[in-house]
Amino acid sequence: MKRRLLLKSLPLLTLLPAGLRASASSVGIQALPHAPEYWRDQVSPKAWKILFEEATEPAGSSALNDEHREGTFVCAACYLPLFDSSAKYESGTGWPSFTQPIEGHLGTKRDFKLIWPRTEYHCARCGGHQGHVFNDGPPPRGERWCNNGLALQFIPRTEPLPALRG
Ligand SMILES: [Zn+2]
Repeated sequence: MKRRLLLKSLPLLTLLPAGLRASASSVGIQALPHAPEYWRDQVSPKAWKILFEEATEPAGSSALNDEHREGTFVCAACYLPLFDSSAKYESGTGWPSFTQPIEGHLGTKRDFKLIWPRTEYHCARCGGHQGHVFNDGPPPRGERWCNNGLALQFIPRTEPLPALRG
């Protein structure tokens, strides 16, 4: 059933610009039409390079590695909530790591920048690159969502989530 649905929607997907494809399969998240330039004044230059040119911050550079409060990690560009603090764990990699995202809020694609393929993931709403997902995470899901800290903002549970922007 699922397979049939997927195949049926393929012709439509191939007509969409790359940035919009991921959101087509995400539940309830409306993709924004903006080009990367739209976000240039709304995030720091370093964050922009990560979000819209798929740069990677140096390991151990993010203050979010040591963020252990309860709260929500939102996309640094459009503020869509991407991870809950309950999914954060210490992976020892030097990047903020999570066992699972907020369902439907991230899209994925294969990335061949290294010799072996990796799975890239990005915000389903603005398309901003967040990180890569690997299959060496802790049980039960076994997933390691390895995120650039600069692509996220942490909102403690005691504060209201910011309104989505864009
Ligand atoms: Zn976003």
